[in-house]
Amino acid sequence: MGTWPTSPCLEKGCSFCCRNTEMPLSPSDVLRIATTTGQHPEQFSKEENGIRILLNNPTTAACVFLDTDSADVHAPGLCSIYENRPTGCRTYPLILNVDDEAFLDTLCPHREEFPEIPPALLLMLKRLDSELQGQS
Ligand code: SF4
Ligand code: SF4
Repeated sequence: MGTWPTSPCLEKGCSFCCRNTEMPLSPSDVLRIATTTGQHPEQFSKEENGIRILLNNPTTAACVFLDTDSADVHAPGLCSIYENRPTGCRTYPLILNVDDEAFLDTLCPHREEFPEIPPALLLMLKRLDSELQGQS
């Protein structure tokens, strides 16, 4: 599965997008995460408008898979399922607007430090979007 060739996330100690997450999961994301973690989908996701989204830890308000003790949105944290993380986590901060045009989310504080958008990543994002639209 594709990903960014380089990203500033680790170097900057950033986990901003893993906090208060509403990351949607495709059925294959749910299956892969359930299989590799041994968790039931209800332990890490909930259904909203026909789509499963990641759950946050009630104490830290961070994704249940973020290794962190802090509720500070600027605190560092590492993804505990990095190799099997959801497709949307791999493509972020690349997102689509309502006209299906891709752009780097302005909420990402380090968006300007990402490299040129890899075509394979854009394709992956568009496939995910179609898959999610087919579910909702
Ligand atoms: S907000 Fe941007 S820089 Fe921070 S972890 Fe997410 S993608 Fe990386
Ligand atoms: S699965 Fe990993 S990368 Fe995605 S929001 Fe959770 S901690 Fe962040």
